[in-house]
Amino acid sequence: MRSKILLVTAITAFFATHSAISQNKWADAKITSQPVSGTVHMLEGMGGNIGVSAGPEGILIIDDQYAPLAEKIAAAINNISNTEIKYVVNTHYHGDHTGSNAYFKEVKGSTIFAHDNVRKRLVKKEEHTHAELPVVTFQQGVTFHFNGDTISVMHMPAGHTDSDSVVWFEEANVLHPGDLFFEGRFPYIDIDGGGTVTGYINNVTKLIGMLKDDTKIIPGHGKLATKADYQKALDMLVDTASTVKGMKAKGISLDDAVKRGLGEKYTSWAWNFITEEKWVTTLYIGQ
Ligand SMILES: [Zn+2]
Repeated sequence: MRSKILLVTAITAFFATHSAISQNKWADAKITSQPVSGTVHMLEGMGGNIGVSAGPEGILIIDDQYAPLAEKIAAAINNISNTEIKYVVNTHYHGDHTGSNAYFKEVKGSTIFAHDNVRKRLVKKEEHTHAELPVVTFQQGVTFHFNGDTISVMHMPAGHTDSDSVVWFEEANVLHPGDLFFEGRFPYIDIDGGGTVTGYINNVTKLIGMLKDDTKIIPGHGKLATKADYQKALDMLVDTASTVKGMKAKGISLDDAVKRGLGEKYTSWAWNFITEEKWVTTLYIGQ
């Protein structure tokens, strides 16, 4: 009996501490904002970078991070412009890009747009709510004629997931490729979510081919970037993918491939979520 009480106390203490830490994490989070080009701005906080088009016709945002940050995100948007947040575009279904959907839909009255598979994958989540689901879904893409710009949302073949779209601002000359770009670090490729290594590399190659030398890029994660930065990421993808494919072709096991690693050249690309081990594993099982 006594040990049971102790156990319950220990568990309660654990959850109390754990939730205090989580609450601090959200309370401490800051949303920073920077102008990119034309009507386009970029917000950084926790989770995927948010693209904003703010102008006389209202506001369109790309991705919306996590639910506990929704009010801070709305406040940062209001600092740019106090007009109506009319549209939200989700680049894919991951929670760090769709977490505030319900807030923007229910509190701000925004209409949420995404590829068909974003809605399908969110519906499959056990704890999803109706409010977080995109309202307008598409198969190929959709174009907004908004704030004097032509904003094309284009679905890409399976890459990061099977629900990816990228957003191209024609006038402002800005691309938001969602998580088809992790700036300066190994990317996450969600194999269970329909992503593939080859598809990811093909998509990045195709996107770079569309860009001008002075196009600005809001990456899914990392700092505001240029075409040259995206090319550097593609070079890394192609080189590391071929290294690991080569090891696999020689019959080297996954464990040994991880032990051999990718060499010093790529040390700085590893980060807490996608370590070198995780990246080698993705390249080994994903192609
Ligand atoms: Zn993602």
